[in-house]
Amino acid sequence: MKKLDKFYIDGEFVAPHGTATLDLFNPVTNAKVAEVALGDAVDTQRAITAAKEALKTFSQTGKAERIEWLEKIHAALSRRKQDLIDVMVDEYGGTTGFCSMIMPASIDDFKEMAGVLRDFDFEPRTGRARTRLQPVGVVAVVIPWNMSNGFICTKLASALGAGCTVVIKPSELSAQQTQVMMECLHDAGLPKGVVNIVNGMGDVVGAELTRNPDVNKITFTGSTGVGKIIAKGAADTMKRVTLELGGKSPNIILDDADFAEAIPQAIFAAYLNSGQACAAATRRLVPAERLDEVNAIARATLENVVKVGDPKDPTVNVGPMVSRKQFERVEDYIRIGLEEGATLLAGGEGKPEGLGQGNFVKPTVFTNVKNSMRIAQEEIFGPVLSIIPYADEADAIAIANDTAYGLCSYVTSADKARAYRVAGQIDAGRVCVNNELHDPLAPFGGFKQSGFGREYGVFGLEAFLEPKAIIG
Ligand code: NAD
Repeated sequence: MKKLDKFYIDGEFVAPHGTATLDLFNPVTNAKVAEVALGDAVDTQRAITAAKEALKTFSQTGKAERIEWLEKIHAALSRRKQDLIDVMVDEYGGTTGFCSMIMPASIDDFKEMAGVLRDFDFEPRTGRARTRLQPVGVVAVVIPWNMSNGFICTKLASALGAGCTVVIKPSELSAQQTQVMMECLHDAGLPKGVVNIVNGMGDVVGAELTRNPDVNKITFTGSTGVGKIIAKGAADTMKRVTLELGGKSPNIILDDADFAEAIPQAIFAAYLNSGQACAAATRRLVPAERLDEVNAIARATLENVVKVGDPKDPTVNVGPMVSRKQFERVEDYIRIGLEEGATLLAGGEGKPEGLGQGNFVKPTVFTNVKNSMRIAQEEIFGPVLSIIPYADEADAIAIANDTAYGLCSYVTSADKARAYRVAGQIDAGRVCVNNELHDPLAPFGGFKQSGFGREYGVFGLEAFLEPKAIIG
């Protein structure tokens, strides 16, 4: 059994002041595999002090120097790429396919940000003023378990690119992944205190980061509920806040789409990261008059293509839920869907055959779902898809927007101009047309209760900069 009992503060692996620990379990076997030491307010304050001290010099570095650091981190992470993928699969049960795709892309966030920096003007002329874009200061990074090191890459690349120093609080469930990340960042040889990492609980370490006056900004990814707590707490010291929160993304399949291709693709968009993804397309909107056809293709995809099982098996596309708690949450929602009167097309309650030990749920599809049902309105965070029929294009757009969230959305059509027209009417931070999922330079973030602020590219960099107009 592993003991994860070191934090990374001021360039060193240090023993915690906090004495509490948390057991970590393998999601495939539910066997205890590790114990993580949990930090307290003192550990958090030490990390903040180190970041504040390092800011004095790091904030004064120029573009060229910071590009060099981003490249060094990119190189250090690239050297451990396979370890970073393996620990992801192992720790939370991300599938080999997903982790092998997402981790290298996340490592490349550092390369992408170096490119953004090259073209970025940190002192543009605005009217008669010269506007200096200076680093916002000490940044707290608070993140969830579902792609932990990926979030660290995205946020760190922008924060360091801007000249900020950082304290990271990963999810308490991600300590094994965090350990590899700590080693890589140490290996990159950054100046002491520029990056610090403290494991711990949200209401202890996260709360201290939120309240501490020496933290100038919080960049948070996680649930909308915790995002609200952080936003309220940050207001006391007027911290800058970026919030990447939950989603309930609609996927509009227009009537001219090739259904044989679009419906299976839509299933995989819903089951992205075993459904444990903020961007998962969990509401599929289809023309009502073609619902039977859609149901038949969806059922066949579930039977023939979707495979649930050990995430180490490269042919598996749905792994276990991260924890027992998450398993129970998904099971609850499947029950709620049945109680609400949605038609169960595939899956349902209980564990899949032969997978009784781990946190596996049956990949589930409900059809003929009403958008007002809880399974269509609330984020489930598991492989549960709702198929919702619409009357016409205007109805599809209205249903897509009838949600508290606005993170991602998807539109599929044979006619790109039509897809763009529909995309323009959806209230979401990102609209993916015809299965184009990601562009590392395009902004990512939410409308409405999916949060505020943007990540990636120029928008991501500017979120860590404070404009100062020098006039005269
Ligand atoms: P969570 O909100 O429970 O926890 C996220 C982080 O916040 C963890 O590190 C946790 O310890 C910390 N935290 C908890 N309470 C806190 C408090 N009072 N003060 C400060 N920090 C606190 O989320 P989770 O269960 O780990 O992850 C799933 C959620 O994350 C889902 O809602 C999902 O949609 C969201 N998410 C959003 C995005 C995005 O980019 N928009 C990406 C991935 C996940």
